[in-house]
Amino acid sequence: MLIVLLGPPGAGKGTQGERLAERLGIPKIATGDVFRAAVKEGTPLGLEAKQYMERGDLVPDSVILGIMRDALASKDAAKGAILDGVVRTVPQAAGFCEMVTELGRKLDAVLLFEANEEELVRRLSGRTTCDVCQTPYTGLEPGAACPKSDGGTLVRRKDDDPEAIRNRLKVYHEQTEPVVNWFELRGMPIRRVDAIGPLDEVTARAVAALDASN
Ligand code: ADP
Ligand code: ADP
Repeated sequence: MLIVLLGPPGAGKGTQGERLAERLGIPKIATGDVFRAAVKEGTPLGLEAKQYMERGDLVPDSVILGIMRDALASKDAAKGAILDGVVRTVPQAAGFCEMVTELGRKLDAVLLFEANEEELVRRLSGRTTCDVCQTPYTGLEPGAACPKSDGGTLVRRKDDDPEAIRNRLKVYHEQTEPVVNWFELRGMPIRRVDAIGPLDEVTARAVAALDASN
């Protein structure tokens, strides 16, 4: 089962993606997590991605397509995967669909998490993220121990500062929103999930949206 999660930064893709992955027994793959781990380790990929991420810009498509291929072909994803933020531009969507066909796989659903801009800014400005397992939190301060991972510390992401947040929302409107239309034009229905409300309610809406896709 391959499920693509779309939605603006702060909509809850990471939070809900984790819950869906647990429920379905498949991994969640998030390009943002791949890049943050690479930046932390100081690998060449991390060094390249860092400059874009800190400004809130997108990493070039050529880099993403390689990561996408590795992810789709990995043993972990043999049964399926929740792909969080992996597709963010029209060329990435086209490359992704081509790869899925090449690998003899099927894209089962595209979920679009929706929230208004005021709520997105509020969430992102209050978000802390574990530097080990990448789980996002709200209401926990930077420096606190991660409740989930061993030895993880919560940090405020550099791209969760006000200027980078503004730029990420602009980049989302300009480069990622057209992806929704692109999928629809190719006959892939987009399942819209109202991402405002308690976590359990949003999860229930996402599960219902997935059921409607089958
Ligand atoms: P958020 O969850 O706030 O949307 P992510 O953690 O998914 O943010 O991504 C963080 C950053 O990583 C993005 O702002 C971008 O710089 C980079 N990134 C992640 N996925 C992609 C992608 N598919 N294409 C280009 N850049 C990406
Ligand atoms: P994304 O991956 O789409 O950028 P995250 O899952 O990282 O979004 O969530 C962004 C922030 O909003 C996090 O601090 C998270 O704890 C919080 N959050 C997620 N879902 C909700 C919700 N339904 N209501 C309130 N806050 C939420």
